[in-house]
Amino acid sequence: MAGRTSAAGGTAAESRETRTAARSAAGRQSRAARPEQVVVADPPPEPDYPRYRVEPGAGVRLADVDPDESEHFGRKKDAADELAHHRDRIADLQARLYAENRRSLLLVLQAMDTGGKDGTIKHVFRGVNPQGCQVSSFKAPSAEESAHDFLWRYHQRVPSRGMIGIFNRSHYEDVLVVRVKGLVPEEVWRPRYDVINQFEQALSLSGVTVLKFYLHISRDEQKRRLESRLADPDKRWKFSANDLRERRYWDDYMAAFEEALGNTSTDVAPWYVVPANNKWYRNLVIARTIADTLEAMDPRYPAPEEGLDAVTVDD
Ligand code: AMP
Ligand code: MG
Repeated sequence: MAGRTSAAGGTAAESRETRTAARSAAGRQSRAARPEQVVVADPPPEPDYPRYRVEPGAGVRLADVDPDESEHFGRKKDAADELAHHRDRIADLQARLYAENRRSLLLVLQAMDTGGKDGTIKHVFRGVNPQGCQVSSFKAPSAEESAHDFLWRYHQRVPSRGMIGIFNRSHYEDVLVVRVKGLVPEEVWRPRYDVINQFEQALSLSGVTVLKFYLHISRDEQKRRLESRLADPDKRWKFSANDLRERRYWDDYMAAFEEALGNTSTDVAPWYVVPANNKWYRNLVIARTIADTLEAMDPRYPAPEEGLDAVTVDD
């Protein structure tokens, strides 16, 4: 017997199935965005995983986040063991993600110049199998890239199944530097927040978990870091006169970051504002968040072939 026809035109059974599927997809997604609620039913107050997450729909005031924060850790040595522990967790979970070959993890790193994107990649991913990671660094777009829609070059670098992808700068530049330097008019960049949310939602529906980190340094800390690049002959290659020019737009960048983070932190692709004046604390927070998220994704080694116990290898 045919089922009752729903308002949308399908049968009641169909629409119930669709709703159930949608709910379980939403459940999976929000669990991925709230790893601590899966890892432990009652998250302990310390460490406080969601501490730096930007809740969807909540505004961001960067001036209210202390870039010097380091919880109860006083100095680098105090956090070293915990960082090593989270690195080991990431290495183990990455091996599972790769073997499972079904889903992937995309990490987005954004910061002001000298904010520590390169240092984060170097220190957090030490010990992870390079075969399972792909780092993409985005500079000003080439002529070919500029001739396409703004997401084109980023979409091509989204990690394939089993992989961890790291974006060192990202599609967010197209609402940050592009806005601050007036590279395109507001009618062009403003609709991009929605486009970005739709893009990340689409990625999440095809098995890509997206985590975004804003490394939050103070203006004074940037001055110290630029000065140390100038003072150290081995760091001078990193110094760019352009960084001094960008620095003059500090307040404009803060406003652009606040609006970008506030408009694009979603359940499926949350932003984390990471206090980053202490490099070691920044590494710890990012490693912890990645490890917890991977753990919540719960990647599994594929089941082995049947009957392996009876298998012997010929001489
Ligand atoms: P760095 O990361 O220090 O090598 O610098 C890369 C430069 O490329 C920065 O000044 C960025 O602002 C710039 N950049 C990255 N993406 C874009 C973009 N979509 N449009 C314009 N400039 C960009
Ligand atoms: Mg630079």
